[in-house]
Amino acid sequence: MLDQAAWEKRAAEVKPDSKIYIDGSFVDAASGKTFESISPRDQKVIANIAAGDTADVDRAVISATKTFESGVWSEMNPRDKKPIMLQWAELIKSHQEELALLETLDVGKPISDSMTVDTTSAARVIQWYAETIDKTYDEIAPSPRNAIAMVTREPLGVVGAVVPWNYPMIITSWKLGPAIAMGNCIIVKPAEQSSLSALLLARLATEAGLPDGVFNVVTGLGPEAGQALARHKGVAKLAFTGSGPTGRKMLQYAAESNMKQVALELGGKSAHIVLDDCVDLDVAASTIAWGIYYNSGQTCNAGSRVIVQPGVKDALIAKIIAFLDTFKVGDPLNPNTQMGPIVSKLQRDRVNSYLEIAGKDGEQVLVGGKSTSGDDLMIMPTLIDKVKPTSRLAQEEIFGPVLVVIDAKDEAEAVALANGTEYGLAAAIWTNNIARAHRIARNLRAGTVWINTFDMLDVITPFGGFKGSGSGRDKSLHALDAYSALKTTWVDLN
Ligand code: NAD
Repeated sequence: MLDQAAWEKRAAEVKPDSKIYIDGSFVDAASGKTFESISPRDQKVIANIAAGDTADVDRAVISATKTFESGVWSEMNPRDKKPIMLQWAELIKSHQEELALLETLDVGKPISDSMTVDTTSAARVIQWYAETIDKTYDEIAPSPRNAIAMVTREPLGVVGAVVPWNYPMIITSWKLGPAIAMGNCIIVKPAEQSSLSALLLARLATEAGLPDGVFNVVTGLGPEAGQALARHKGVAKLAFTGSGPTGRKMLQYAAESNMKQVALELGGKSAHIVLDDCVDLDVAASTIAWGIYYNSGQTCNAGSRVIVQPGVKDALIAKIIAFLDTFKVGDPLNPNTQMGPIVSKLQRDRVNSYLEIAGKDGEQVLVGGKSTSGDDLMIMPTLIDKVKPTSRLAQEEIFGPVLVVIDAKDEAEAVALANGTEYGLAAAIWTNNIARAHRIARNLRAGTVWINTFDMLDVITPFGGFKGSGSGRDKSLHALDAYSALKTTWVDLN
């Protein structure tokens, strides 16, 4: 890994792609407008990004539709498609430093995370879906002797993907991998805070041999480019990851346009249930701390609530506090940094608004808790005890490095509390009793449950939520179904 001085030198010299990518070429927005991409690291402008709107989305949909209908990708022999996607994954790996730097400058995540997690995960996802291309079979239904009924998967056509800023490259790859492997064309609208890695991913895809028009990127603001994409009648499916209020709008846009399919991956308020029979409190404490302070708490499945029984509570809290004594917060370009700044002033002020209510209803701030202002986007890891389950601190997604502690007298109360928010993305159980762990796992209304661990994730399993956390599932072979339509063909053998 490069040292901080080397990363800083590269950051000073970086000249990222900043235009819209349509049909294999970078183009200005039709309006000629741009917006600034500002780094949370030092508030410097990294690039002026093309501000796409309806005209640019139209252009992208026309190009993607033409490409799809030409069959150049949608009808290519799977044997020929696979090596192109594999080569793309290889290029992501060989451009790891460039991609990691863009991700860190754009969103402030530690460079060591961008290197070891974000870039490597994105490459793995593209590689994994490439490998499915010539291994995915369709079905023959148990039809009568005088007929054959085939059930085949067909690509949907043009897919729109609107993605957030917290894991730009990873979440974009979750849409790209299965959508492109299934033969669709895709238009990605990155979050305005984090356009850069998507543009480089697109350039690398073309370099790998992906035909022009298969993967397009329309940069721009949510209510403009995002809305135009979600409302476009030429888009067959909208894959959305982001906040609940925007997800609601996506459904509305689809209803008011062509009733396109909408997959929603939304927020969370994930709980750790720590029971009195949890034996390894050291592991629990450090895992719980990583699970909320990683990426400055800006993770949809962040374990932002600890629901704990009295027998282990004091020891657990003491160990989380001890963990924080050695946790390195600072400049994201320092390879030793474990937590960087919040992505933007707007998001920092959202987190501040929660810190400001902590203590007003009997809560006790044990660590951190101070809001920041001006150009200071560094909110320190915060631990708040004595939080009432009905409090906004316990109910709402803060999306910052804030962990709240809630007391539970027994297993039943712990499960009720864990399920007691509008969300249902993920949860964890800490216990030494495997039967109890499975019983609780069954009763948790969450898309992912971890037992004696947290945040184990890989492309091999689906990821998505129950309830207000959305209904879509990214990753795994199941995602291939999400980017295809089933077609039934009956053949009369008489
Ligand atoms: P957001 O909803 O503000 O923005 C997400 C995307 O939607 C961005 O590209 C944005 O430009 C676009 N957008 C915003 N307003 C729009 C509009 N009116 N029309 C069309 N597009 C619009 O969310 P965010 O702040 O970028 O991301 C944080 C949220 O994402 C959190 O709630 C987090 O939990 C959630 N998230 C969920 C998952 C998951 O897999 N479930 C993963 C990561 C993040």
